[in-house]
Amino acid sequence: MMNTTKIFASMRLLHRISKLSERKIHEIPLTKDHYGIKRGPYASVTDQDINQFERILSTNNQILLRPEDTAEYNRDYFRYVRGLGTVVLKPRSTEEVSAILRYCNIRRLAVSIFGGNTGVCGGSVPVFDEIILSMELMNRIVSIDEYSGLLVCEAGCVLAKLEDELSKKGMIMPLDLGSKQSCQIGGNLATNAGGIRLMRYGNLHGSVLGLETVLANGEVIDLMSNFKKDNTGYHLKHLFIGSEGTLGVITRVAMSCPVAPTTQNVILLGLKTYNAVLQTFLQAKKQLGEILTSCELIDQASLEYTVEHLKTSSPIDAFPFYILLETTGSHKEDDEEKVRQFLEFSLEEGMVTDGIITSEPSKIKKLWQLRERIPAATYSNNFCLTYDLSLPLEQFYSIVPAIRKRVGHLVNIVCGFGHIGDCNLHLNIAGNILSEEIRKLVEPYVYEFTASLKGSVSAEHGIGLLKPGYMKYSKSTAAIALMKQLKSIMDPNGILNPYKVLPYN
Ligand SMILES: Cc1cc2nc3c(=O)[nH]c(=O)nc-3n(C[C@H](O)[C@H](O)[C@H](O)COP(=O)(O)OP(=O)(O)OC[C@H]3O[C@@H](n4cnc5c(N)ncnc54)[C@H](O)[C@@H]3O)c2cc1C
Repeated sequence: MMNTTKIFASMRLLHRISKLSERKIHEIPLTKDHYGIKRGPYASVTDQDINQFERILSTNNQILLRPEDTAEYNRDYFRYVRGLGTVVLKPRSTEEVSAILRYCNIRRLAVSIFGGNTGVCGGSVPVFDEIILSMELMNRIVSIDEYSGLLVCEAGCVLAKLEDELSKKGMIMPLDLGSKQSCQIGGNLATNAGGIRLMRYGNLHGSVLGLETVLANGEVIDLMSNFKKDNTGYHLKHLFIGSEGTLGVITRVAMSCPVAPTTQNVILLGLKTYNAVLQTFLQAKKQLGEILTSCELIDQASLEYTVEHLKTSSPIDAFPFYILLETTGSHKEDDEEKVRQFLEFSLEEGMVTDGIITSEPSKIKKLWQLRERIPAATYSNNFCLTYDLSLPLEQFYSIVPAIRKRVGHLVNIVCGFGHIGDCNLHLNIAGNILSEEIRKLVEPYVYEFTASLKGSVSAEHGIGLLKPGYMKYSKSTAAIALMKQLKSIMDPNGILNPYKVLPYN
């Protein structure tokens, strides 16, 4: 008889044979097996429960039960995780969300909240047979007020759709992500998403003026506000921003949205050293000031790999580092003058050797693709370990050569890129077979390195299912204990997104 451990090992290998981004659903390992998770003390769904959900939801197409319909709700965008949910519910209103949760809480049915499913940490899909609560039908824009810059909408609105509607009134969303065609504003709040405009407009804790949320027991908490200033009591909305669906279901959002800029420049610069990167970033902040919107770092490995993946040629010579800068403003000549002075200074001082600048929309798109398609390029491998770290700028890049030294010869690529303007590095390590040797050389080294610099092991992607065990590298035992206390007050039966965010073992 074959040894069980060996069978599992060879099954795991089978799952990794097809490229990550092309995995068929049955090739994704079941989360519960892959991560050895024990099912919590929850009830299993019965026919009576389905009858009750049918009574709560107003139309038939709000419940999916056929395996071929529920399959897509059981796997994440990155094909890391696969759950066993058999019921998908699609509420159309806060009242329906409330009635579903009230019932699930009484019945002890666990619930997994599903937004645009672009999350990076496996938080949006069930682990076992949790009820899948999809927010996709709660997609109405309630109002857009150009005078106050206020957007009020339901949580299931897709980010790109909000951007389109705002543009009709000369406004933009304060956040922009590569996933905007699918991600939802509720998911953005739940993950406290960052993205490429954060440097200019700050994070969601600043731009979300109010929100409505439904607690695990079905109670609706109205924290909506139309004002930037509201100091009445504790600022509860912040608890839900970044809580990844573990404290409540976000159903409605009020956001402060900036006026759309009328001018845009994108600059790609080649730099010889990391010190030149730092100096150029500093000068960009000083000389471009309020028009500087994004500052992204791309290393040579990232650019070369992406260019090859896109089957295109690099618009710039080879350099160890590149900086992609974007400026947006409201006065073409003023902006151009600032950009000209900044470039002249950077060239004269020898910080920058080569670069490209464009204000043409089609060329802007192509330059941004070089940054935005790096994850897709690395995910075209059979495996990709991805880390999303906040690090002090002086040591920002040092983890990349350190990891290259440890595993460079065992993998296809080790690359570093990301939002240097926000101290947020993305480190991707991709290759053919993820051996235990590679994993042990990378982890916990990456986390210990980050902790030693008092950085964050999750700068913007969150904790989800994949990282609860690593929270200890960025949060103290007392802080994690307080989080657990909050969870037990707000969701005493633990029905919302179980096995996610908080360490469960
Ligand atoms: C190509 C690409 C580029 C990306 N770029 C960035 C980037 O630049 N910056 C960044 O921060 N992230 C980025 N991401 C990650 C991802 O897009 C964000 O985390 C996004 O905010 C997730 O939104 P979503 O609607 O897809 O949420 P989902 O993936 O559906 O869910 C994420 C988590 O939020 C919970 N959730 C979803 N909706 C609600 C709700 N209404 N109420 C309560 N909980 C909810 C889910 O249960 C889950 O735990 C990128 C992803 C991709 C694929």
